[in-house]
Amino acid sequence: MMSGATTATADTAPEKTPDTARPIPFDNSYARLPDAFFSPVDPTPVEAPRLIAFNRPLAEELGLAADALERHGAAYFSGNVPLPGSLPLAMAYAGHQFGQFVPQLGDGRAILVGEVVDRNGKRRDIQLKGAGQTPYSRRGDGRAALGPVLREYIVSEAMHALGIPTTRALAAVASGQPVYRERVLPGAVFTRVAASHVRVGTFQFFAARGQTDNVRLLADYVIGRHYPELKGEENAYLALLEAVAERQASLIAKWLGVGFIHGVMNTDNMTISGETIDFGPCAFMDRYDPRTVYSSIDHGARYAFGNQPMIGQWNIARLAECLLALLDEDQEKAVEAANEAVGRFMDRFQEHWKAVIRAKIGLGADEEESDQALIRDLLVTLYEQKADYTLAFRYLADAAESGAANAALGRLLEDPAALAPWLAAWRERLSRGTTPPQARAAAMRKVNPAFIPRNHKVEEALTEAVDHGDFSLFFALNDVLARPYEDQPAFAAYAEPPKPGEEITATFCGT
Ligand code: AMP
Ligand code: MG
Repeated sequence: MMSGATTATADTAPEKTPDTARPIPFDNSYARLPDAFFSPVDPTPVEAPRLIAFNRPLAEELGLAADALERHGAAYFSGNVPLPGSLPLAMAYAGHQFGQFVPQLGDGRAILVGEVVDRNGKRRDIQLKGAGQTPYSRRGDGRAALGPVLREYIVSEAMHALGIPTTRALAAVASGQPVYRERVLPGAVFTRVAASHVRVGTFQFFAARGQTDNVRLLADYVIGRHYPELKGEENAYLALLEAVAERQASLIAKWLGVGFIHGVMNTDNMTISGETIDFGPCAFMDRYDPRTVYSSIDHGARYAFGNQPMIGQWNIARLAECLLALLDEDQEKAVEAANEAVGRFMDRFQEHWKAVIRAKIGLGADEEESDQALIRDLLVTLYEQKADYTLAFRYLADAAESGAANAALGRLLEDPAALAPWLAAWRERLSRGTTPPQARAAAMRKVNPAFIPRNHKVEEALTEAVDHGDFSLFFALNDVLARPYEDQPAFAAYAEPPKPGEEITATFCGT
């Protein structure tokens, strides 16, 4: 493919190759759904777009013409120049926000420009966020500020590198025009890639209007797109409910494994695909405490770290309600089936969480009865000792390799000796396994990251970019977070928890 001749042709006549004429090979399926599903809307041009970041590996994975896109990135990813073949639209959706149902939300500042089928045959959405007003903007300006755009860039790519299903960052463009929030901020447009943007709230939009035909159409659409294996099932809609529950249970277990707090798990921010979406007030926990909340608007601690599984179940119950009419002609039977599916959510979560936490402490599949107590005792001690969640597990890998007391681990605790009895019990437990210590430690390092997007580091990078126009920390942070499971001694400072005074206690949506 990459023969000299092809390259030469492309070099001499770039504008004539099909790639550059149509740098994104769109194939738009959502736009073929009925009118009720979306509103066509064009992005509103911005004044002076400038490309800040472009994710070339992702562009290549998507089969896009990366060179052409990068060259014209400011124009394309701001929405100033329409991408050939795009069919821009804003998706309709509803949602429960902090438990309150809002019958109409929709893409108020996001525009789906189209879909591509990537190199692995997977269909992906490409969306501009902050590209101007849509029919769903209500009183919003349809814009995004630079800080939250860079934040979503950093965190979504970090999640991907951590191995957690997530939407991705394709590009960030500074708009060259201000947005007005509590203060005047530089504006930006973010290009997001998602398996799809269909949410629990998309189902709620139609269910709340009694549009059963549209609920069915949407269910068929997501089965075709995300769960094709369910097509032959006797009750495909019940199978869909179970499958979404399964992916969400697995996702939330993975979040808990790395200390991720989504912060705003409203039903409009929960995908049907099982990807993490909408990184508004999200944060990574430093000290281990299940009650941790960062979001400045989460007054009731509804979306605290340890509440996330329960909220996942609550959201799945909302999806189940939407599907009732499809589950069985006999509504009593439908309710029974839905209840059973929702009731299984916690078991599903527990299974996934068990696998996550066992791997984190180096336990294999060979379960022993006392393992549960061992896991609980560790978490209780980390909580009581106010230990840094990420480093505690990372250092356990070292402790698995050597029998010596681990000084670095001790320094994470208020009382450095507090973990000694647990370490003795743990080592004794490990000695009954057959894995050699070095292999066990290596396996543990593959699931216990050294690097997470530390809130104070993210904040530092954003402040430099927003207040001083300096993006070097933003790029440095992205580079470090691309290899979270490797020790990167040159970047040791990025692994450190915040020092006193550096702690970030609140995060903001930034909408
Ligand atoms: P979020 O909290 O980002 O999940 O957004 C909740 C709802 O508010 C969605 O319908 C968004 O599209 C909408 N929204 C958020 N910010 C803006 C904005 N600046 N302009 C218009 N709509 C917005
Ligand atoms: Mg949202």
